[in-house]
Amino acid sequence: MLKKRPITTSWITTNMNALLFCLLGTSLFLFGIRHLSFDYTPEQWLLLGSMFGASLILYFYTFQIPPDGNKQSMDSAVYLACLFIFGTSEALALLLLSSLLFALIERKVVWWKHLTNFSIYTIMIFGAGAVFYGLSGQPGQLQNMHLLSYVSTLIIYLTLNILCISLYYYMADRSNIYRIIKGLLQESVLVYLCILILSLVLTILIVNNGITGLILFLGISIFLSHLFKKLFDMYQQLQERAIRDQRTGLFNHSHFESLLEKEIKFAHSEGTPLSLAMIDIDDFKRYNDRFGHLQGDKLLGLLGSILKEEAAKAGVTASRYGGEEFTLLMPGYTEHEALDLVNRLRKKVNDTPFEGVEILPHACLSFSAGISAYHIDIHDKSLLVLQADQALYDAKKQGKNIAYIFGSAASLEHEIEIAQDVRDIEQLLNLFLYKDINTFKHSKRVFRYAMDMSLLLNLDANTRRQFVLGALIHDIGKMEIPWEILNKKDKLTPEEWEIVKKHVNWGKEMAMTNNKFKGLAPYIELHHEHFDGKGYPHGFKGAEIPLLCRMLTIIDSFDAMTSERPYQATKSVEEAAQELRLCSGTQFDPELTELFIAYIEGKTVLEPAQAESGL
Ligand code: GH3
Ligand code: MG
Ligand code: MG
Repeated sequence: MLKKRPITTSWITTNMNALLFCLLGTSLFLFGIRHLSFDYTPEQWLLLGSMFGASLILYFYTFQIPPDGNKQSMDSAVYLACLFIFGTSEALALLLLSSLLFALIERKVVWWKHLTNFSIYTIMIFGAGAVFYGLSGQPGQLQNMHLLSYVSTLIIYLTLNILCISLYYYMADRSNIYRIIKGLLQESVLVYLCILILSLVLTILIVNNGITGLILFLGISIFLSHLFKKLFDMYQQLQERAIRDQRTGLFNHSHFESLLEKEIKFAHSEGTPLSLAMIDIDDFKRYNDRFGHLQGDKLLGLLGSILKEEAAKAGVTASRYGGEEFTLLMPGYTEHEALDLVNRLRKKVNDTPFEGVEILPHACLSFSAGISAYHIDIHDKSLLVLQADQALYDAKKQGKNIAYIFGSAASLEHEIEIAQDVRDIEQLLNLFLYKDINTFKHSKRVFRYAMDMSLLLNLDANTRRQFVLGALIHDIGKMEIPWEILNKKDKLTPEEWEIVKKHVNWGKEMAMTNNKFKGLAPYIELHHEHFDGKGYPHGFKGAEIPLLCRMLTIIDSFDAMTSERPYQATKSVEEAAQELRLCSGTQFDPELTELFIAYIEGKTVLEPAQAESGL
């Protein structure tokens, strides 16, 4: 029978559903078995007994199907052959005896699960029998002229199976029934069709050769079952090899990426915490240089085994990210819980003796780690990695053998760095001086607004750094737009608009080439997304757009409205505020719009020097 992964629902819900199946199944059983006669010839008794034995043997020799290893039992072929040769009553009697025996063998499984299984089989056999007789099928020899009744019987048997199993799981966990049906069909329908056709083959074999035919069939089934098992084992081995790093036994980079994506989706939909740690061995090159790569490999293996063991204990996943870098993916961990775990691990590693580690600066094996935590504004898995990487970079700078949470490094240092970064970006923007002076001026004004907003929003030093630099660099992709389009006085054609819209992608690509500016990519890429999902390049909606990108959209638009440009009407602050309100909820985030308007209305009375204060 088609099977699905075990479900986890409440005892009561599952039992209520099981009860429904059991009531229907046992009623049909009692009704279907009423014609049982016991009036058989000795050969028929022997054949029925052998079929019972065959169903028992086939119960153990199953077909195991990738990817989940679901097991397909061949016993359906015997029940159907019994139905075709003897009739519904005999097939049901055979089912009853087999089910009782299976219940005895598998006593660990609760009784109502056996009963549900029995009931579902009963529904299938009963339905199949009704169609068989309804289409003038005659028990006994397989008759070519009644081929339609055989085929219809098999189709009904399969359909009832899929429906019963899907309905059972639908009632238990209320997941999408179409998805369940699709999953069942994709997973095992081919094997199942094979079993159905084999039931006809078995019928022919038994009718013509009696028990010899049955034994032949059993032989084929047992060999096939072995073959399937072998294939499945090979499949599992290959799959395991594809996701493991050979040197450390941890998951490899690509498997880590797919796990990360899954966990981010889960954290997003369930609102549960998720943390990531990037771990990098300290001064590993020095160890390699001194003792050679082979010895270095042993050290990697040691750290791998410690990580594997500790990760398993803590319910987190350790992977080798590359070279001497590792990751810990920690679902359910807040950043502070993650920091505790990483620090415990770090101490354990420090205390683990290993040949030659005394030459290292800390006189022991050590690593530095950066931790980042998922939050609603992480729209892309690479951002979580990037933030952990940045925290790791801070940890290395702080003297190594330490773990940092992203954004917690000393803010003074960030202030100094930010000034340097601003200068670097301004150098880039200087190229606009000849190409598009308006974009140059606009970027600088947007930067100043962002500085003020970052104070108003009370951003921490690191987030503030990202936000204001993101604001300064947000239009950098315009550098790639041809001069004639950028400076065109007339209305742009649709084709030209398409080119202009590409500046967000081009800008993102430009930022990604520079390690220092990678973290600014979301501001460049997403500042033309609209709150209602009608923006570009992705059409992200509401909270799918990171909060500070939503803020940047407002600042950017406000400045475009109020700045003086040739051939374009300029709005007053009041008019622009009115326009922002008009588009609040469609283009702009309503809450942030109000915040910005309140700020801008207050700012008009500020001294210009005060308003432009920043660094
Ligand atoms: P830091 O504390 O700043 O991380 O210094 P480091 O020396 O650990 O880092 P660096 O990036 O300078 O060097 C990393 C070294 O890791 C260089 C490379 O030879 C070594 N490495 C990377 N992968 C392997 C590997 O599979 N086996 C061995 N033995 N060494 C590796
Ligand atoms: Mg490294
Ligand atoms: Mg290193």
